[in-house]
Amino acid sequence: MAGMVVIGAGQAASQLVASLRTEGYAAPITVVGDEPYPPYQRPPLSKKFLSGELAEDRLYIRPAEFYEQAGAALMLGVRATRVDLEAKTVTLATGDRLAYETLAFTTGSRVRRLTTPGADLPGIFYLRGIADVKAIQPHFQAGKRIVIVGGGYIGLEVAAVAAKRGLKVTVVEALERCLQRVTSKLMSDFFEGVHREAGVTILTSTGVHGFKAGANGTVIVETAGPQLEADLVVAGIGILPEQEVAQAAGLVCENGIVVDEFARASDPNVYAIGDCSNHPNPLLGRRLRLESVQNAIDQAKAAAAAICGKPKPYAEVPWFWSDQYDLKLQIAGLSMLGDDLVVRGDPASRKFAAFYLRAGAVAAVDAVNAAPEYMIGRMMIAQKKQVDPAKLADPSVPMKALMG
Ligand SMILES: Cc1cc2nc3c(=O)[nH]c(=O)nc-3n(C[C@H](O)[C@H](O)[C@H](O)COP(=O)(O)OP(=O)(O)OC[C@H]3O[C@@H](n4cnc5c(N)ncnc54)[C@H](O)[C@@H]3O)c2cc1C
Repeated sequence: MAGMVVIGAGQAASQLVASLRTEGYAAPITVVGDEPYPPYQRPPLSKKFLSGELAEDRLYIRPAEFYEQAGAALMLGVRATRVDLEAKTVTLATGDRLAYETLAFTTGSRVRRLTTPGADLPGIFYLRGIADVKAIQPHFQAGKRIVIVGGGYIGLEVAAVAAKRGLKVTVVEALERCLQRVTSKLMSDFFEGVHREAGVTILTSTGVHGFKAGANGTVIVETAGPQLEADLVVAGIGILPEQEVAQAAGLVCENGIVVDEFARASDPNVYAIGDCSNHPNPLLGRRLRLESVQNAIDQAKAAAAAICGKPKPYAEVPWFWSDQYDLKLQIAGLSMLGDDLVVRGDPASRKFAAFYLRAGAVAAVDAVNAAPEYMIGRMMIAQKKQVDPAKLADPSVPMKALMG
């Protein structure tokens, strides 16, 4: 029996195996992953794994026995290169061919690479996988100069770990402010302030023009502003959906593999889950591609249910987190959907939340060290809860009371 073939062995793949078996899927499952590791969590890569506080085996999502007991064969260190939708086969880089009855793409995303002159010099790194962190770590020493290209979440998390380690950190961001694509000016100002207090230099509205080899293996970073000399450069300038194999097979792709609310792609036997999928979200009333653990897990659950003949549409409030210094930022919903900003608490206290309202209803929340605001905010988003902005802004009014 051909069973299920899963391309990509990451967060979504691991959940898909677990959920398929829970839902009663009885056929064989084969998971093909091009990295040499069993499915692992990526969030710690720019946090406690980079800082050395978390061992590699703690990254693994489930122990090896789990896959054995689930009857799922992990084929690791091998890339799937081609899919034939007619013949229902997957060709591997080794030339081997796997037959499938149902196929899932859980191929995630890959980093957007710098294209400026000199971008291939040694000393310039990216951060997507365990191997990337292992390449960076030997250079991560107190006193070294690190230039981080890109002030998004990953860039700022690397900056926080580097600053704590005693490196001299400069973040170069092409846009007017860090986190500009993902949050409000209030949050950008707050995080830029926190980093500056920690000794990080932040250069905004500063594009990088190119790189040159400096003396003793250093890298000269040419920017629209000052020229910088770095012992290492880490670029975090966004990611692209890993969709080439799906696209070449003839599946509809548009900023990700296009799927419906059951994670079904444009071929009835094919699903796409996680970072690589472009899916509809009925709660938000729009299609989107998300890069988050929540999305990989919840969409895998929906796909497993659909594969097992118990379809339940995927309709969750997106959520995400970021750890920087002593700050836990928890985010729910999409702040760009809001047209009104309500701040609860004082950013100077490092414990506050920004609520984004749309037509008087909560559309998103960014909560800093503020778990109740995040938890209840998430419920409010799901319920499109209308709130009184004055009460929401008043920390003496308990969040629970606002749900009433
Ligand atoms: C540094 C970092 C920090 C992050 N921090 C957070 C965070 O704080 N919170 C949060 O919610 N999310 C975070 N994320 C995002 C989160 O990790 C991803 O959204 C999640 O891993 C997506 O799961 P996935 O299964 O779709 O893809 P992945 O987990 O990336 O797995 C995809 C796998 O498929 C493999 N693959 C691709 N193409 C092929 C092929 N043709 N053949 C075989 N294998 C293939 C890839 O190499 C990869 O191993 C972070 C990501 C990174 C990189």
